[in-house]
Order: sequence, then structure tokens, then C-alpha cells
Amino acid sequence: MSSVTVRVPAKVNVQLSVGPLREDGYHDLVNVFHAVSIFDEVVAKESESITVQVNGKWSDQVPTDDCNLAIRAARALAKHAGRTYGADLIIQKEIPVAGGMAGGSADAAGALVACNELWGLGLPMEDLMEIAGDLGSDVPFSLIGGTAVGTGRGEQLSELPTGGTFHWVFALADGGLSTATVYAECDRLRAALGAEVPWPMLDDSLMEALGTGDAYALGSHLTNDLQAAALNLRPELAPTLDSGRQHGALGAIVSGSGPTCAFLAIDATHARDLAQSLTATGAAHTAVAAHGPVHGATLV
Ligand code: ATP
Repeated sequence: MSSVTVRVPAKVNVQLSVGPLREDGYHDLVNVFHAVSIFDEVVAKESESITVQVNGKWSDQVPTDDCNLAIRAARALAKHAGRTYGADLIIQKEIPVAGGMAGGSADAAGALVACNELWGLGLPMEDLMEIAGDLGSDVPFSLIGGTAVGTGRGEQLSELPTGGTFHWVFALADGGLSTATVYAECDRLRAALGAEVPWPMLDDSLMEALGTGDAYALGSHLTNDLQAAALNLRPELAPTLDSGRQHGALGAIVSGSGPTCAFLAIDATHARDLAQSLTATGAAHTAVAAHGPVHGATLV
């Protein structure tokens, strides 16, 4: 096989509960991931060495050296297989960069699946999940997709059943937000308040809403403990969220560490209308309708 193509989705967190800061600098999380139909494509072609090329809207913001998560993933896979392999990785980026939608993790997951195939390794999903967990806490989810709850640092995953398709709109912001900066701001705000940070718990009502496919109930139970920090760093996101609510969004939330804003719509038609209203009113310069859950990294 000389070329393999993998499609891999973005995610939104429908619950992101952040526990107290641990001594190792991480936080215990309850992180409910939901994969949505905004996809990066990762092509892996036979080559002597491992290289990456990034095309598409956000390509100028993505490193093409050894920091690129797709390169790191391919190298980790080759190391696991115990041999030197090469691959030219070509990424078509549709997922916003540093947008709180796990775009880098998606590319890492895409590279794992693509190189596993290109190199004829035939490694089972369990092995890929293990390598993914070492690459970053969102990478295992990008492999499986669907809806899943991550605990620990977010890397211990259990799939969650969902009772239907949910329709979303994502308002893309200019420029990204660094995940580390947003966590640091969250810690700073909490320290200033001085209140004890509760242990993160999975929201039973949210689970029920996901299980029954009830978009109205899901909309009222979306939570993100990083939202206050993201809004402090990017105050212009607050009117964007308000505008979505005014146009009938069932829920409006910052996606992960932001700055992308996620809006839950009633159905596909409402999602289209909502996206149009957000851009027409200037609340967002780009708004994309999508649905979830969708499958994780998939060979095409
Ligand atoms: P998360 O939601 O997982 O916290 P994010 O979606 O906010 O992450 P990413 O798009 O994953 O952020 O990008 C984070 C940083 O990772 C970027 O600033 C970029 O420099 C770096 N990066 C490395 N490889 C990639 C890649 N393949 N795609 C995007 N960003 C990458």
C-alpha cells in the first residue's frame, strides 16, 4: 500500500469539570467528550523518513517540525513496533487550531491509524489507545470518537451510549487560546476566590439527556469549568454566547479551553439558521454547523 487516508473528527466537551490542582500540576477531570462532524484528513504516503505537510485554512498556525503531534504519533508508533519506518504525512486542516476542539490530538490519532495501515503493522485498537494515551490526554478519544467520559487527567475513557444525533453550531474565533494558559487562569481565579474546589462528578442528568437523545435537556446541562477563565482571557466571547442564546440555542458554551463557542441547536434546520444569524449579526465571523456523535479516526 503506497498511500492511506484517515478522517478524524473534532470534539466538544459537553461536561468539563475540573478538580483541584494536583501536586503533579495536573487536575483530576470529569470530561465528557463528544465527537462532531468537523474533520481533519491525514494522508500517509510511503517515504524514507517521517515528514509532515499541513494544508487548509489554519495551516500557517501549525508547526511542521518535530513538535507536530502527527509526527510525534508516527514516531511513537514506529518505536512501539521496534523498527525505523518512514511516512510523508499530509494534513488537510478543517479543525480550528488551538480552538478547544482537540485538532492536534485528532491529527495524532489520524497519524496512528494511517501509519498502522501504511506500515502493515496490524496493531489492535488497545495498542493504539496505549500509545495515544502517552501522546496526550485527548488523543485516545480522537481514536474512538462517539461520546465518552474521561476521568483522571481525562485519559481513562469509557464510552457513553447516546440516543440520537445532536445538532451543533461552532463559532470560530480569531486566534487561538493556549490550553495551559486557560488552566492557569482557572487556578488563578479559584485561588483569588479562596473557595474549596469540589471533586469533579459526572452529571447524572447530562448522562440521561445523552442517553435519551433529548437536546433540550442536554442544552440545559452543558457545563465547562474552564469557561470563566476563557471569558476572562477573551471577554469578547461573552456577547457571542449571548447572541446564540438569543437566537434560540438550547445551550451555549465555550468548547474546552476555547475560544471556539459551541451552541446546541434544536435540529439541522435550526443549526443552519443559527449559524447564519451568528454571522449575519457579526456575533461570529465564521460559524459552522455540525452534528454528533460521529466515529473517531476512520480509514477512508
Ligand atoms: P485541546 O482542545 O486538546 O486542548 P486545542 O484544540 O485547543 O487543544 P490544538 O489545535 O490541538 O489545540 O493546538 C494546540 C497547539 O498544538 C497549537 O498551538 C499548535 O502549535 C500545536 N500543534 C502541534 N501539532 C499540531 C497539529 N497537527 N494540529 C494543530 N496544532 C498542532
